[in-house]
Amino acid sequence: MFNASKDGKFSLKNAWNVFRIKGDYQNIFNIIWHKNIPTTISIFVWRALHKFLPTDDNMIYKGLSLASKCQCCVHTENIHHVLISGPVAVRTWAYFDDLFRLNCFNYHLPLKVFLNCWLIKVKGHIRNVIPCLILWFLWLERNNSIFNNVKMNHLNVIQNVKDKVAALWAVNLLYNKDFENYSQVCEHFGIPMAISIPLMRSYKWIKPPYNFYKLNIDVSFKSNVSGFGGVIRDSNGCFVAACAGPLFNVDYQKAICMAILFGCQLCNSINIVNLVIEVSDSVNLSMFSMEEDGCCNANCFYLIREIKQCMLGLNYSFMHSMNGRNDCAIWLASLGCDLTENKDFVWANCPKQLKGYLILEEREVPYVLY
Ligand SMILES: [Zn+2]
Repeated sequence: MFNASKDGKFSLKNAWNVFRIKGDYQNIFNIIWHKNIPTTISIFVWRALHKFLPTDDNMIYKGLSLASKCQCCVHTENIHHVLISGPVAVRTWAYFDDLFRLNCFNYHLPLKVFLNCWLIKVKGHIRNVIPCLILWFLWLERNNSIFNNVKMNHLNVIQNVKDKVAALWAVNLLYNKDFENYSQVCEHFGIPMAISIPLMRSYKWIKPPYNFYKLNIDVSFKSNVSGFGGVIRDSNGCFVAACAGPLFNVDYQKAICMAILFGCQLCNSINIVNLVIEVSDSVNLSMFSMEEDGCCNANCFYLIREIKQCMLGLNYSFMHSMNGRNDCAIWLASLGCDLTENKDFVWANCPKQLKGYLILEEREVPYVLY
């Protein structure tokens, strides 16, 4: 009698299944193989997930002695830096995260975990195609930089991803059905929009608790400039003050830190004590916890220390905003990109458009996002 089969007969297949060690079933490997994703790119993503790429850290690990320097900044090079956490990668992911209104970008996540935020079960869907293309073109941009001495630029990566989507569409590999629930992105790829019943979601800004103030913060990256915006309101939702300004030579993390610092300084200057700070979901809040000394953020170490100094007199807490609840801050951040220096606002000098957003949010009117 052979126990491993139902009928008691011996078969090699069943015997093998008894001995072999099964890994966990991972949907991610099921999703990256699809005709909508060119095979070269699927293979590349598979290699990236298994860390089989000739980045400097891997070469050093294999025994090659070389001085590592990544192509986008002063860091040493490793796979995570090239594909997720480096400045070029961050700007590329942030762009598409915004385009698809996902709000899931967090460059602290390991590649596999991060990809799972993008991927959905519908095979061949644009949400599965895009992250694979981004990884691929980030890699090509990195190689182009090494071998042709061209400076890495996120705008090239974004354009290459868009062109590839348009090309896949042109050869009938992508269809309107692959854009289900995301028809609003079609125009960004030069693809005619599918007529479908939109998926409606409503969000509203929520007032802080009684006796508390709320500081909403956001940052914005335009082609060559970046900016921040912050807005303070009381527990009735009434506008108190706002600030906006340009940021120079910053990556996403540093930009967020500076925005929070300016926001807190504004709170201090008008003697606010009880404060809720609301930031976009993609901001990692652990770096601001008082217990840790932010050791993992060498880049922003002094900035975070300064923020904590600034917060010593505050009774504060952080929270994440849902996408769409942060419109005043988003608007101010975009304005900040166009300013030459930091600017504070009170009601009297508030731009008209900002007043409009403030009134809508004060009345807790829900936004409808398509
Ligand atoms: Zn770099």
